[in-house]
Amino acid sequence: MNIGAVTVVLGLQRGDEGKGRFVDELASSHDIVARFNGGPNAGHTVVLPDNTELDLHLVPSGIAHPNVVNVIGNGCLIDPVKLLKEFSDIEAKGIKVTPSNLKISTSAHLILPSHIDGDKARESTGQAQGSTNSGIAQVSADKYSRSGITLAQALSNPEMLLEKSSQEYVDAVNKLTGFSIDTSLYVNQQLIDGKKILAEGAQAFLLDIDHGMYPFVTSSTTTIGGVCTGLGISPKYIDQVIGVIKATQSHVGGGPFVTEITDDNLLNSLRGKQTEVDGEFGTTTGRARRMGHLDLPQIKRAIMINGITHLAITKVDCIPRYGDHIQICTSYKDAGDIAPVSAEALNHSTPKYENLPSWTEDISVITNFDNLPENAKNYIKFIEEKLSTPIFRIGVGPNRDQVIKLTDI
Ligand code: GDP
Repeated sequence: MNIGAVTVVLGLQRGDEGKGRFVDELASSHDIVARFNGGPNAGHTVVLPDNTELDLHLVPSGIAHPNVVNVIGNGCLIDPVKLLKEFSDIEAKGIKVTPSNLKISTSAHLILPSHIDGDKARESTGQAQGSTNSGIAQVSADKYSRSGITLAQALSNPEMLLEKSSQEYVDAVNKLTGFSIDTSLYVNQQLIDGKKILAEGAQAFLLDIDHGMYPFVTSSTTTIGGVCTGLGISPKYIDQVIGVIKATQSHVGGGPFVTEITDDNLLNSLRGKQTEVDGEFGTTTGRARRMGHLDLPQIKRAIMINGITHLAITKVDCIPRYGDHIQICTSYKDAGDIAPVSAEALNHSTPKYENLPSWTEDISVITNFDNLPENAKNYIKFIEEKLSTPIFRIGVGPNRDQVIKLTDI
């Protein structure tokens, strides 16, 4: 019998790389789409075939596919009230969310109102780190100090949950009863049955609690190890590891940004408008994103730590916004071509750039690599060569069909 396999999709920069669209595309060739980390602080935008947008936070991006089972793994952090609201937003777009197409781990920890209050209080002090105020830092602290509440605990002891939250939370948790199972057992049984699983990463490499630019990080593992701990699977099942990068590098929140752009005119041009689907404003917070030049040393580090086998690059259609040449950081003075890990070292890093000629043509209707302008082809080949990793997808617009497929995986 064929044993199943896990394909992983990870963001290699600072989040918002456009992971959701590739998960959405690959979901149709997988049986299960699973989230292994993060919580309502994440934001994925999936554009449906009729061009309506689906804003997802904790529900996996496979929800738009009728034959896919979605899993929220034990590594995720659940705000039951927000999750139910997400269900109703999805159902309002005509997509059903039921215990048949969504399974939630009983081992996932619950975010309570006190966690959100704690995040807000911290953010209003000198310790502000650009948190989304979703309670993630506080619930994670409780999890590791062994004073948190898992979904299993809340279901079996509603009185304790009521004491720590409100009737609204108790009611919300009750509504999750039918969805709640031992997802680690489920996922392993499915793998033994030969099923294919797509593991969808939230946030991104630089926000990883161990490998990111601490303390400007999230409170979970966003890198490859999180797939095993957050789903309860062995690394032997992990097959391909897809890294998503965005041509227009961006960041929400504080922390070092070696290739950051400070020129207001260029920033405005790069960000686009808040009303545009691909405008550079946070999906969860609405905050204007910090923007920069593509930072290959940082991506090289992400490729190394995660064992990336394939790259997908998005927003290549937005490159002309940089002007008549494209500045790409290929090394850091003193550090070489792999970025250092600490925020302190990054703060003292100076980028070294190479310039490539840009293009003016609108490439958002091109679906074949050969039809790209010569400078766009050279840009892709340059990145592929510098990163020594094949690029298998090129995003040329936010819609499902605005993509150049170079190879199958
Ligand atoms: P994720 O969190 O990594 O899934 O990223 P998001 O979905 O939050 O952010 C990516 C944004 O960029 C969304 O608004 C997408 O619709 C948009 N997007 C993704 N790929 C492309 C692309 O190739 N070109 C353009 N213009 N927009 C894209």
